[in-house]
Amino acid sequence: MTSITIALSKGRIFDETAPLLKAVGVVALDNPETSRKLILATNRADVWLIIVRASDVPTYVQYGAADIGIAGKDVLLEHGGAGLYQPLDLNIACCRMMVAVRDSFDYEAAVRQGARLRVATKYLHTAQEHFAEKSMHVDLIKLYGSMELAPLVGLADAIVDLVSSGHTLNANQLKAVEEIMPVSARLIINQAALKVKRKVIQPMLEAFSAATKKNSLVRRSKVTT
Ligand code: ADP
Ligand code: MG
Repeated sequence: MTSITIALSKGRIFDETAPLLKAVGVVALDNPETSRKLILATNRADVWLIIVRASDVPTYVQYGAADIGIAGKDVLLEHGGAGLYQPLDLNIACCRMMVAVRDSFDYEAAVRQGARLRVATKYLHTAQEHFAEKSMHVDLIKLYGSMELAPLVGLADAIVDLVSSGHTLNANQLKAVEEIMPVSARLIINQAALKVKRKVIQPMLEAFSAATKKNSLVRRSKVTT
């Protein structure tokens, strides 16, 4: 029997992926949020889930340690996408990559004056590209989390981070001043696995695609009613 492994991260991605997985016919036998297991069996004897850090998902899939993964566009851009096939935007974990500064900071003026800004972020590659495109000189500072703190304690003038509701920014007297891009989670597949395990992977890809369409139809009707 050809078995396949799907790499997922806990938290947001898993919460929003679980219903899709169910629609595809895959249900984990343990709850990843509470289980300490990193390899989870599913209702399907030929499908396994592995639980990894969100930013590690593309790496596991790139090297074939997982055949399929679900990763945010933010993470995929930083990884670079080598060895990955990215056939499907799942339209989940939707948010925006934004530049944010302190409420009192005049970002427009700083940009106009060509000020050299210090920018703290987890997304060095994306930030680098964004400011280069705007011909802005910035000093990037790599952080691994809680970016919102950096402008408050003088570590940076600005941050590049993901924003959905904006509540975290508000709670910390920050404001979003520029959108870099919309972000959502994508299905990724190891390029070699897609060829070798096509019989198992192709139907699963089609099921994900159908479940995603159904999902966005439901969402659209919710918006219009
Ligand atoms: P980590 O803390 O390991 O970075 P998160 O659960 O915060 O993991 O983020 C995992 C993924 O969820 C991100 O790569 C991104 O694609 C998505 N994500 C992060 N923040 C948000 C948000 N505010 N709204 C929607 N999706 C988000
Ligand atoms: Mg986080």
